[in-house]
Amino acid sequence: MRVLVTGGAGYIGSVVTAQLLAEGNEVVVVDDLSTGHRDAVAQGAVFHEFPISGLDPVLGDWDIEAVIHFAAKSLVGESAQNPALYWRNNVVGTVALLDSMHAHGVDRIVFSSSAATYGEAEQQPIREDAPTRPTSPYGASKLAIDLALRDYAEAYSIAAVSLRYFNVAGALHTTGGQSYGERHATETHLIPNALRAAAGAGGPLSLFGTDYPTEDGTCVRDYIHVVDLADAHLRALSAGAPGEHEVINLGSGTGYSVRQVLDAVRLGTGSEVPVVEAPRRAGDPPVLIASNEKAAAVLDWHPTRDLAAMIDDSWRFEQLT
Ligand code: UDP
Repeated sequence: MRVLVTGGAGYIGSVVTAQLLAEGNEVVVVDDLSTGHRDAVAQGAVFHEFPISGLDPVLGDWDIEAVIHFAAKSLVGESAQNPALYWRNNVVGTVALLDSMHAHGVDRIVFSSSAATYGEAEQQPIREDAPTRPTSPYGASKLAIDLALRDYAEAYSIAAVSLRYFNVAGALHTTGGQSYGERHATETHLIPNALRAAAGAGGPLSLFGTDYPTEDGTCVRDYIHVVDLADAHLRALSAGAPGEHEVINLGSGTGYSVRQVLDAVRLGTGSEVPVVEAPRRAGDPPVLIASNEKAAAVLDWHPTRDLAAMIDDSWRFEQLT
């Protein structure tokens, strides 16, 4: 299949691009390199550096059969400071992409949505029919796109799948010696920050909130390996039918507290993780755990890599960068 990957120079997009190529697909990557890295785009992909809003004049020339759409701003804190950036870049940018797809007869899209669309869910694990009450402009922008996809799918006979990720970690290390992982200039995620603290780089880890209503007082999250996540995208490419929009959660179905993750990082690296306890981070819900029953039913997808594998693979990647 000939696939357009927007944001293919980013963390998850680069892993999906490498996996698509490994399975014999042709891949065109569009990325404005605002947060991605040119050298993260796997060899064999055709690369174009521009924003998704610039696709319309060229999309018709590329014979694209499906789009996997990652290109987005993705920092929750930044979105609260600068919501206009998130509404313009994520929402307006995606509507432009959908209009280009419609104009050029591209009728299949897999979208990188987020558990942030649910906000503080009342019931765990979170099913896809849970209420959507995002607590940040980032989550709101992802939800707005999910709603646009529903309408475009129905009216314009597009097959659309929104994959709502929980907490993604790990890296891809190929048998050919290539590695793809998380290289954010502003790193907000727990596992890479804990690994850096364990390596003695950048000072101790700030542990945000120890008074949550959870067993050990720290937030509980559902971690999923980026290679399992990529596998779900490849499956989603052939799921769904024209006119249908599916929303599918991607998580392991199991929660780990921040302290449990820090213990796993200590075990995986053999180093202590220096920690300073800090106040809660605004907008962090106490618990987020995915129901992955729909992913199993619709995509026949089952996560196969555990937290220790995520930490090992991320640790190997950290040592390369
Ligand atoms: N966290 C932390 N210190 C950090 C980064 C994250 O204590 O440097 C906590 C954060 O408050 C949350 C959990 O780790 O409870 C997971 O945060 P992350 O940013 O990795 O993912 P999120 O759940 O926000 O998408």
